[in-house]
Amino acid sequence: MNNPVIEIVNVTKSYEPESKALNAVSLEIPQGAFVTIIGPSGCGKTTLLRLMNGMTGIDSGKITVMGKDLESWDKIQLRRKIGYVIQQGGLFPHLTVSQNIAFVLNISAVEKQASEKRVNELAKIMGFDERQLNAFPSELSGGQQQRVGVARALASQPEIILMDEPFGALDNITRRNLQHEIKEMHQKLKITFIMVTHDLHEAFTLGTHVAIMNKGEIEQFEPPGNIQQKPVNMWVKEFINI
Ligand code: ADP
Ligand code: MG
Repeated sequence: MNNPVIEIVNVTKSYEPESKALNAVSLEIPQGAFVTIIGPSGCGKTTLLRLMNGMTGIDSGKITVMGKDLESWDKIQLRRKIGYVIQQGGLFPHLTVSQNIAFVLNISAVEKQASEKRVNELAKIMGFDERQLNAFPSELSGGQQQRVGVARALASQPEIILMDEPFGALDNITRRNLQHEIKEMHQKLKITFIMVTHDLHEAFTLGTHVAIMNKGEIEQFEPPGNIQQKPVNMWVKEFINI
């Protein structure tokens, strides 16, 4: 088997002394997987996602990204390798769509021409025209803003994409369309996607592997079919049958 693209070993994280947001969590993410992370509110999903690119520090344990200890990664290099998408797009309101997409390219000092070429490629993939590229985020719909967020995360041709409830704020039809697009994109790009969601249907239809979390721990991490056939305990069984 290939080496995991991200390996988390025995990681514990507390924001406050008395309570652990994550408790001795271990997780091996296979290269090219689409991992979905699901569990009740406050169970540690966002914390788990954010420690994968060093946005959140850990108290103990070890994280390896693409074979290298997270601690020894150059942070800018790491951010180019790992794209990040959040719920409301997290776009810069004072930058145009094309400037938003190019943002990571500019901090990494890619030549202007190469940067423009990449923005145009992504615009094509995501279906943006010239007018939309020159618009500001507030002039776009919620679904379009989310697309810009995805395009921005893909701009530096990352190996890994992290998404924190990217479709949570969208209406059903827009959400279904974007789910479909993201699944196709994953199949085409062959990179690793890791997505936090609170939607069971989304977790089980998009994920090649689903991590079920509860109270700072991973209860089960397996392909969706395995979880449905063999939930490891009563808690998981009930959770997936809500
Ligand atoms: P989820 O994404 O599953 O809702 P989080 O990872 O955001 O869960 O939070 C896990 C736990 O850590 C929760 O109890 C939450 O209140 C707490 N927490 C998260 N972020 C912070 C923070 N910045 N400061 C203090 N507590 C936090
Ligand atoms: Mg969260």
